[in-house]
Amino acid sequence: MARPSSDYDLAIVGAGFAGSIAAATAAARGLRVALIEAKPQAGARVHTTGLLVKEAAEELDFPLELTRKIHGVRLYAPNLRSVDLFSPGYYFLATDTGALLEWLAQRAQLSGARLFTNSRVEAGRIQDNVVALEPLGITARFVIGADGPRSKIARIFALGFNRHHLCGVEAEFPPLPDAADVLHCFLDSRLAPGYLAWAVPGVGVTQLGLALRERRKPDLDAAVRKIAPRLGLDPAARIGMRGGLIPCGGLVRPFANSHALLVGDAAGLVSPLTGGGIHRAIHFGRRAGLAVADFLLDGGAHPGAVMRRLYPSFFAKRLMRIAMNIEPPRALYNALLNRPMFLSLARSIYFNTRTVAVERTFDQPDSQIRRSLISASF
Ligand SMILES: Cc1cc2nc3c(=O)[nH]c(=O)nc-3n(C[C@H](O)[C@H](O)[C@H](O)COP(=O)(O)OP(=O)(O)OC[C@H]3O[C@@H](n4cnc5c(N)ncnc54)[C@H](O)[C@@H]3O)c2cc1C
Repeated sequence: MARPSSDYDLAIVGAGFAGSIAAATAAARGLRVALIEAKPQAGARVHTTGLLVKEAAEELDFPLELTRKIHGVRLYAPNLRSVDLFSPGYYFLATDTGALLEWLAQRAQLSGARLFTNSRVEAGRIQDNVVALEPLGITARFVIGADGPRSKIARIFALGFNRHHLCGVEAEFPPLPDAADVLHCFLDSRLAPGYLAWAVPGVGVTQLGLALRERRKPDLDAAVRKIAPRLGLDPAARIGMRGGLIPCGGLVRPFANSHALLVGDAAGLVSPLTGGGIHRAIHFGRRAGLAVADFLLDGGAHPGAVMRRLYPSFFAKRLMRIAMNIEPPRALYNALLNRPMFLSLARSIYFNTRTVAVERTFDQPDSQIRRSLISASF
């Protein structure tokens, strides 16, 4: 059968984590790829905290200078008592997220993808077996929608879209000279109903934010008032802001049709419990690039059928999201913080149940970490 005539084999809308990685993979396998981004640069106006779980850090070799390792979690009850959780061998990576997204888009270009910036896709259609995207006027044999939580590609091609979100907002402060090697997580159902507030010792900044269930407005000032004194941050020294929507309703359906496939946030591939989506954007972005290359170059199965076998349904995490939305009373968190079952649950969520937790007090060097339970700063 004759190939339909098109400018590109694959158009990818959105040069975020999912889109840039799908583009690099597909282009490296020989597809003519257009990577289309609404913003002036791939890393402009970052909306995410950009913290990578270790599993995400293992998917790609990220430039060392754009990341910072964080080895543990300091979990705070609403009364600000805290407990430290560590897990041998486990870490998170804080990132210079804007620079990392730029690097990913450059990597896609080096593989042969053509990047179009300042190019918001507003409309599209499938005609004569070819996808046309407007106003750019690009045609392609297949399109991947990697355009985030409010996917335009989902709307244009009548695919499923995200109906439930958390709303997250974050302020940036100068780095703390003596930042502890922990991700600070603040449980407080008044400040952050349905989720939590956090502070991250980031790359060249300290990030302080909160997310909460939909239809509530995040009170960032209240979070800063509560958290900044605890960490020694100057509330007046705010240097930047970021924020956005976090899909939390699980996989959208349908996520594909004859000529289109959704990945990343557009597909709802975000943990409904933790709101983490970068690992899945990276992992499934790459798998989507491979699936489209197999389909278009080698007569492989349709990418929608391939991804149906791979995409998670998040069944257990959606149930846990319902429990979080109930907004446990603050007194309950205060009472639970040092209870073994609660800590065991927290460890399994933060460290993905793979490893054991260890105890460490703040002044102990790593070599003296005791392999037992948890350390609490009561
Ligand atoms: C406040 C906040 C904090 C978060 N913190 C973390 C965290 O620490 N760790 C974690 O794992 N996850 C976190 N997440 C979730 C994570 O950011 C997302 O899951 C991840 O960024 C998804 O990547 P993506 O490539 O699918 O989408 P996005 O990163 O949203 O990228 C989509 C891209 O598409 C572009 N685009 C959109 N519409 C169009 C259009 N019509 N035409 C052209 N381009 C378009 C956008 O400009 C954007 O560049 C957070 C989210 C928020 C909002």
